[in-house]
Amino acid sequence: MLAKRILLAEDSRVYQHLISGYLREWGFEVELARDGAQAWKRLEEPDAPMLALLDWVLPGLNGIEVCRNIRKRGIDERYVYTVLLTGKSDKKDLVLAMEAGADDYLVKPFEPQELRARLLAGKRILDLHNELISAQESLRFAATHDFLTRLWNRAEIVSFLERELLRAIREKKPVGIVLLDVDHFKSINDSLGHQTGDIVLKELALRLRSQLRGYDGVGRYGGEEFLLVLPGCDLAGALARTAEIQRSVAEAPFTPDLAKVSITVSMGVTIAHCGAGDSATLLHDADLALYRAKNSGRDCVEHSSVS
Ligand code: GH3
Ligand code: MG
Ligand code: MG
Ligand code: MG
Repeated sequence: MLAKRILLAEDSRVYQHLISGYLREWGFEVELARDGAQAWKRLEEPDAPMLALLDWVLPGLNGIEVCRNIRKRGIDERYVYTVLLTGKSDKKDLVLAMEAGADDYLVKPFEPQELRARLLAGKRILDLHNELISAQESLRFAATHDFLTRLWNRAEIVSFLERELLRAIREKKPVGIVLLDVDHFKSINDSLGHQTGDIVLKELALRLRSQLRGYDGVGRYGGEEFLLVLPGCDLAGALARTAEIQRSVAEAPFTPDLAKVSITVSMGVTIAHCGAGDSATLLHDADLALYRAKNSGRDCVEHSSVS
């Protein structure tokens, strides 16, 4: 519960003791900063509390400056809900505090229950914020991944390829491109049912993923077709990887039901030397090589002649 943690920036020992006592009583985990610089340092860390109770007058950076620093960060940073504590009751100061980016303020001395009410409002906003972030993340995942296999979808793996081609031009390195298609997949569906076909695709996705390195990319290119992008891989390297993939596809049945069904794949390989070539042409080359692999009897790998 991120919104249950709170940073208290307060230099007065009396207030430190008093406020943190209340906060703990209300169920907050309190982190204490004794000056503004310490508070800001903590808030810059990725696991910082999302609620901050900042005294206005602090040694080093004051509470207003900490608020300004927080708001200067981009919208990609996690939101920090700030309540400023101040002895200043002049309305102009309060406007200044809000303009600096404070979400709320409280004039000292204050009623503890009033602080509690303000923090409840802050917590509600943070909960809402966190829900929005996770909804946004789910949407982003759905837009970039294939629902069945949870691999990248076609648009995402192609855009990964395009990014890697640009990097390969800068670094003068090759990029290996492999199009893989399951052999006679239609007959697996026809004989064992579409659901079993789905299980085969999911298991194949796992096996492909486990064959790749962290910086390789794999995505579902179409129905039973997958695209692998292997940065830094020349033809010999790519062929070694495709041989590994064939071994991993052949080594064990995909499911116990499939013990007697042998699943094989065909692959077409092409290499972008130093990142040369546009993605559409390279994918076309890989597709032609895959077509040749299909025509040479399937369960094999062909590569484009330019490589
Ligand atoms: P080939 O060796 O020439 O590739 O033959 P194939 O049967 O694998 O190829 P074909 O293109 O004739 O058939 C592909 C089949 O893949 C047809 C389609 O219904 C099936 N398919 C595509 N997407 C899915 C899916 O998400 N789940 C399942 N179960 N089947 C799918
Ligand atoms: Mg086909
Ligand atoms: Mg097929
Ligand atoms: Mg196909």
